[in-house]
Amino acid sequence: MCGIFGIYNHKDAANITYLGLYALQHRGQESAGIACFDENTVHLHKQMGLVSDVFTADVLKTLQGTNAIGHVRYSTAGSSDLKNSQPIVVEYLKGHLALAHNGNLTNARIIRDDLRDSGSIFQTTTDTEVIVHLIARSKERNTADRLTGALNTIEGSYSLVLLTPNELIAARDPYGIRPLCLGRLKDSHIISSESCAFDLIEAEFLREIEPGEILVINEKGTHSLFPFKKVPRKHCIFEYIYFARPDSFMFGRTVYTIRKAFGRGLAKGDTVEADMVIPIPDSGIGAAIGYSQASGIPFELGLIRNHYVGRTFIEPEPSIRHFGVKLKHNAIHDLVKGKKLVVIDDSIVRATTSRKIISMLRYYGAREIHFRVSSPPTKYPCFYGIDTPSRKQLIASSHTVEDIKTYMQCDSLRYLTVEEMKDALDGGDYTFCDACFTGDYFIPFPRAMDMEQMELFSRQ
Ligand code: 5GP
Ligand code: SF4
Ligand code: MG
Repeated sequence: MCGIFGIYNHKDAANITYLGLYALQHRGQESAGIACFDENTVHLHKQMGLVSDVFTADVLKTLQGTNAIGHVRYSTAGSSDLKNSQPIVVEYLKGHLALAHNGNLTNARIIRDDLRDSGSIFQTTTDTEVIVHLIARSKERNTADRLTGALNTIEGSYSLVLLTPNELIAARDPYGIRPLCLGRLKDSHIISSESCAFDLIEAEFLREIEPGEILVINEKGTHSLFPFKKVPRKHCIFEYIYFARPDSFMFGRTVYTIRKAFGRGLAKGDTVEADMVIPIPDSGIGAAIGYSQASGIPFELGLIRNHYVGRTFIEPEPSIRHFGVKLKHNAIHDLVKGKKLVVIDDSIVRATTSRKIISMLRYYGAREIHFRVSSPPTKYPCFYGIDTPSRKQLIASSHTVEDIKTYMQCDSLRYLTVEEMKDALDGGDYTFCDACFTGDYFIPFPRAMDMEQMELFSRQ
């Protein structure tokens, strides 16, 4: 759960990156950072906090240079503190390099232990640093080949940007699990996790980086390498369900249209009678619109979200999450009073948010509450880069839908089925990872990871 951005050949590289990170803020709110090169001098600024807090005009002035990369972070491996923030900047035998990574490496611990046994010193507890070490140890002559060697050793999900004084390199894992795309702004090339960042800076969307592609951008232009064995595409379907911004174009479609299709799919198999469909904002809005259009039940904004509270989930402290739920949503009293409601959210994790919202709606006089979820029950943890720590406490992994309904105290509960989810994506091959719903893990992970994904490196 991170956002990455890179720009090559722009006189205001850091300023553009700063704007790009704004557009990617939803992908990580713990820390933000920008690295850039001014000839051979590297500038780096990273800090805990939101993009708007981390960068001031004075800081941006110090970030000189025509090439830059940036990162917003939410930790999936490694603890949440400054030393684990990105980009990582190092100086090694061949000079400086900066790296920013979105994803999760499943064999990072094994490689890390090997590297440490042979003398490597690690500065952070992130799996990203493993890639840096592998690049530094490579005997290959150019950076792209050294990166290829490193990526051939690691397994898991990665979309990354690597910057040297004269090159920007983007890479995406062979399955294409996490998104990454290429854009252009006049003579500059831009890499971003999501296309919504291009819109903000008025850049043109060119294409998505292909699964398994290493794209090198330098003074000669761009060229692509495809050095890995071809494997089936496995795009993270949870990006569509929840994580990506609805205005992004990703995995060949606009996220918003898919969210609506999930909502339509939910409505298709539903016979419930209700006065209105209301989303839990913001994550349930797209699906609720789709549900309303397909069912003919009017859409209303029955719940209002306070936008100045961080995403409840993203706060690592349980006490903060508890407050967050209460602070975040309120109901429009006279709208819901005496009404039969279909309430839609994109997913249920612990069911704590939804339970509180249901109790609030009842308090304001809702007559019936039919809860609908625009994804299948989330039963399995993600090892490929999404919010693993909280997924340990997934309610659906140990409870039936009936149990969950009882816990949430709604009148009925229905999830989108895996089949309905596939139907909603209509047409062509199904090219998605859905392991958190099906348990179909296509990249093996060490057994220990199952138990202690979050403690991955923190044991030192
Ligand atoms: P619950 O009702 O299970 O307590 O919370 C469900 C809510 O959490 C949904 O609104 C959903 O949008 C949100 N959610 C699901 N997965 C994640 C995640 O990985 N990170 C964050 N921040 N929120 C999530
Ligand atoms: Fe995405 Fe779920 Fe696969 Fe993780 S397990 S990559 S969240 S679809
Ligand atoms: Mg939500």
